Amino acid sequence: MDETRQREALLEAIENIADRIDEEREYLTELDSAIGDADHGANLNRGFKAVMEKLEAMDDDADVQEIAKTVGMTLVSEVGGAAGPLYGGSAMTASTELEDGITAESSVAFAEAFLEKLQDRGDARVGDKTMVDAITPAVHTYKKSIEQDDLPPLEALAKAVDAAERGVEFTVPIRASKGRASFLGWRSTGHQDPGATSTLFMLEEILAVAEQYLEGDTDVDATSPTIPDEEPEEE
Ligand code: ADP
Ligand code: MG
Repeated sequence: MDETRQREALLEAIENIADRIDEEREYLTELDSAIGDADHGANLNRGFKAVMEKLEAMDDDADVQEIAKTVGMTLVSEVGGAAGPLYGGSAMTASTELEDGITAESSVAFAEAFLEKLQDRGDARVGDKTMVDAITPAVHTYKKSIEQDDLPPLEALAKAVDAAERGVEFTVPIRASKGRASFLGWRSTGHQDPGATSTLFMLEEILAVAEQYLEGDTDVDATSPTIPDEEPEEE
């Protein structure tokens, strides 16, 4: 994908995420009302509304790194609550991995940097009943699918979304040990984590846009050794 198309795809993904968060606002808030303070949907919605305003006012020649960084900065500054600064701070840090554009390789680096920063800042690990429970398996699955299994990015992303979905389900029976839900102790069990759920929604939107842009595209994985440079010779 050339630079212009990468930019277009990224902007479309962000816009679709903003729309999805708006649609799911009440659902996310309902999840947060069971184990938190009933503001997760409203928090994120406010953040993504601000993101859309920022992006609309942005220079047309901003590259993907700048766009990702702007999203992160806006979420950090506009969203109260735990999740906005966690998502935003991670996006800001990880955006540097997109310096040379979006490739299979740089997207893995972005995902890893995102997770690392998230764990750094929030100090949560898998099993603490947070967004980390969705993001961690998604990032690990994406990395393994690309680097070890040599799958095209689109398939890797689909597997990552499946992994995130299982991560969300995994948050239901467990007890929260980080964030506001941890104040409830054992009473937090039996409820789905709102942050893990919003992570899944975002990944689903990224996948939907990737499907549109990458379907049948093998070119994005030009570094993969399994893709031959030339047409195979006929027998
Ligand atoms: P707040 O808890 O401040 O009201 P939100 O309601 O917007 O913020 O977000 C709640 C979500 O944030 C939780 O469902 C959880 O997934 C996530 N979260 C909270 N604390 C942490 C943490 N320390 N690390 C990772 N995620 C966290
Ligand atoms: Mg909350």
